[in-house]
Amino acid sequence: MSKTYTTIGSVRGCCGHKHRTIEAAVDCIKRDQSGCRSQGGYSDREVRYAGGAELRESDWEYVHYLHYSR
Ligand SMILES: [Zn+2]
Repeated sequence: MSKTYTTIGSVRGCCGHKHRTIEAAVDCIKRDQSGCRSQGGYSDREVRYAGGAELRESDWEYVHYLHYSR
């Protein structure tokens, strides 16, 4: 079963991508964050399954791992 991922936030909206991996989705958030930071803000995007469903617990843990390990 192949899932795709997107990133979405109530302020920043959806990135509009379909990322094939969690790693790519986290990289997308990090790019958005550095763009926001240069304007004095921050990104409120988070990783979701494409379609908008929230991540399973195990996937969340992986997202957090990627955020703090790279
Ligand atoms: Zn994206």
